Amino acid sequence: MARELRQRGIHDERVLAALQAVPRHLFFEPAFQDHAYQDKAFPIGEGQTISQPYTVAFQTQLLNVQPTDRVLEVGTGSGYQCAVLLQLTPHVDSIEFNEVLYARTRQRLAALGASGAALHCGDGSVGLPAQAPFDGILVTAGAPGLPPALLRQLRVGGRLVIPVGNSQSQRMVRVTREGPEAFVREEFEEFRFVPLLGASGWRS
Ligand code: SAM
Repeated sequence: MARELRQRGIHDERVLAALQAVPRHLFFEPAFQDHAYQDKAFPIGEGQTISQPYTVAFQTQLLNVQPTDRVLEVGTGSGYQCAVLLQLTPHVDSIEFNEVLYARTRQRLAALGASGAALHCGDGSVGLPAQAPFDGILVTAGAPGLPPALLRQLRVGGRLVIPVGNSQSQRMVRVTREGPEAFVREEFEEFRFVPLLGASGWRS
């Protein structure tokens, strides 16, 4: 998988090593486990998906996580991206909107001994004000725009990585907070995510 990811432009060796260290099949439903090492998204129940490895690698590389960073993931899903982030920093919060997935993934991460992340159930489109500020916020569902609360919860120097667009496709966006009121926006390639729900997402 690392060779394919390198060919597609993933060059951060820490990110490649993090993906190598996390066995993806452990985050799959039994019916799909044989497909775990294909570079594709797969169903995880509740109408949701585990992102494809390239997408996980792309977002993680853009987030540029440092070992002391505090990171928030919005959209815990299967817990795979969360486990990858935990390879890069021990300070990870992850929030999931769907109660069934939250409960299932909480058990899974504990069983895997990857319980280092603080898991939350709720609307991550408004962030986690009590835990803010964050050095990195990674959103794993497609948003209609930049959620203002997530921008406010970035530390100066912090990065928000989020797919933004319509229901068919989203452009990956990275916003870096360069000062209290200074935000720099960069745009990257297009992806297709499940919708971000909640107050600053597509209303559920
Ligand atoms: N990161 C996940 C993984 O590694 O398996 C993949 C996540 S899946 C593509 C997107 C997830 O975002 C779904 O589990 C969905 O329920 C969740 N989600 C959607 N809107 C949300 C919100 N407002 N707050 C938190 N989670 C949300």
